[in-house]
Amino acid sequence: MLLLESLREGSIPSPTAKNKTSLIFARLVFSFYISIINNLIMAQQGMNLNISLDKTTPLACEECGCETFTQVTFLRKVSKFIAGTDQDALIPIPSFACTNCHHVNDEFQPKNLGE
Ligand SMILES: [Zn+2]
Repeated sequence: MLLLESLREGSIPSPTAKNKTSLIFARLVFSFYISIINNLIMAQQGMNLNISLDKTTPLACEECGCETFTQVTFLRKVSKFIAGTDQDALIPIPSFACTNCHHVNDEFQPKNLGE
């Protein structure tokens, strides 16, 4: 009810009941997507500010021990019959490879990502 009251003070002059409802709905959807996008950006950049560096462990390449990685992209193909599209679809899966030997650690393989 508080939300509805604050939205009603918007700048649109004497909106119809239908316009009012769709305006409220649009604002709710908009803020919902903004919060999702913010979460995605924070997760991607590892910006959880509550965790200090000494609470983390370094990660090294399984093959050569190098501790720096570069972002790479795996591509998975999906049949158009499964994707429900006109053509076969490509799904890009971001991952990390060693900057020294280009090895992709097991935990960064597409089958292990997202677990
Ligand atoms: Zn390596």
